[in-house]
Amino acid sequence: MAATDTANAINEVAHRLGLVSFAISAGFVAAIYLSRKAARRRLLLRVQIGVLLVVFLWFIPPFMQAGYRAIDIACMLGATTFIFGLTLRFSTFCESCNRAITNNQPWTRLRQCPHCGAQLTRPL
Ligand SMILES: [Zn+2]
Repeated sequence: MAATDTANAINEVAHRLGLVSFAISAGFVAAIYLSRKAARRRLLLRVQIGVLLVVFLWFIPPFMQAGYRAIDIACMLGATTFIFGLTLRFSTFCESCNRAITNNQPWTRLRQCPHCGAQLTRPL
């Protein structure tokens, strides 16, 4: 019975974290979509990821209160930070056509925009 209560409490906190993260991401995605300059889009992406990381940290006390183990939270935080780092490292926006560019082959450097062919200021 107690294990079920703990699982329900954890699910509830995770559900709230998911909703808050989705709402924040939807706002940032809309702002990035509406933004006309690549530099602004890059800044918005960095701010979005920073805000999502802060939201994740903000949800740690409720997760602990719901009965989540500290080692599990540490693993989730490590994985989340790693994925956010990969996102920032391997994605950008083209200065020439403003489109999003992601490098899905991290062992090769992307030096030109795959959409318009413009030289990237920072190879991905
Ligand atoms: Zn381009």
